[in-house]
Amino acid sequence: MKRKDFLKKTIIGSALAAVGFPISRNLFGKEKLQTNIGKRGIEAICSPTNTHMVGNGFKVMNFFPNGKGFEERMSPFFLLDFNAEVNFPASDIAKGVGVHPHRGIETITFAYKGAVEHHDSKGNHGIILAGDIQWMTAGGGVLHKEYHEQTFNRSGGAFEMLQLWINLPKTHKMTPAKYQSIKHTEKPKVELPNGQGVVHVVAGEYEGTKGIASAFSPIHMYDIHLDAGADFSFQLPKEFNSGILVVDGSISVNDKKAPENHYVQLKNEEGQIHIKADKKTILMVLSGEPLNEPYVSYGPFVMNTEEEIKQAIDDYNNGLFGFLQD
Ligand code: MN
Repeated sequence: MKRKDFLKKTIIGSALAAVGFPISRNLFGKEKLQTNIGKRGIEAICSPTNTHMVGNGFKVMNFFPNGKGFEERMSPFFLLDFNAEVNFPASDIAKGVGVHPHRGIETITFAYKGAVEHHDSKGNHGIILAGDIQWMTAGGGVLHKEYHEQTFNRSGGAFEMLQLWINLPKTHKMTPAKYQSIKHTEKPKVELPNGQGVVHVVAGEYEGTKGIASAFSPIHMYDIHLDAGADFSFQLPKEFNSGILVVDGSISVNDKKAPENHYVQLKNEEGQIHIKADKKTILMVLSGEPLNEPYVSYGPFVMNTEEEIKQAIDDYNNGLFGFLQD
């Protein structure tokens, strides 16, 4: 399906086709997943990486980019930094990352434990708590800062977050910056049968339920909460680059074990994704249509050419990204 078409689709039949269902399927019958197709292959189950600090507030393992071209493998997703659960001590010193620019991407922060505060040069401000998401479109350029929320910082405690960057398509690189603050309770959800858990639909859709966030590429993004013993299957479009991060808990995916803090890279092929949860589990599922465009990245900027990177640096140095007090 063409990118443009996907973004325009609103009717349920087409939307379901986009997540891998045959369009001829009887939408109003009680028929669930097609059972006559095989399982989607698993390309790799990546172990937790060494951690590094981002600023003084985020202790992250980086799954991509990883210097091996993996950002291209997961295009349009460009970066996945995961701060697995860690205990931050009580502190009077602000913890996080001070004012810095972005251009050419969207930065998406998921909070699982603890609290994060965001300010940007467009005047947006938000505090995210467990389950909440901040979705910042940097587009043509913005300055922001990301800190542990002050009350949390003073008390300390369990902290678990992730940050994802989505590369913007060439035609939307310079879109005006914007900010979406998404509360956990606002995410549309699909209850799995027999109380096995809930699929919170962040973007794209899951079995016809549309996500809350708007993105610039055809993507699906799910925040899945499972109870021990959950056992279900779903599908994603075969041409979409797709992966699953095991945030908490432990699963098997198509009979392969994926423990906590592991990242599962799926092959680009048709097939069911069969998940079994060994214990209470939280997953973050990503799936997106590859951009297939050249890109050049330099720190917080991801553009299509070297020229555009130079321009971004010049524009930043000339104050065109606005102003934000640190
Ligand atoms: Mn940032």
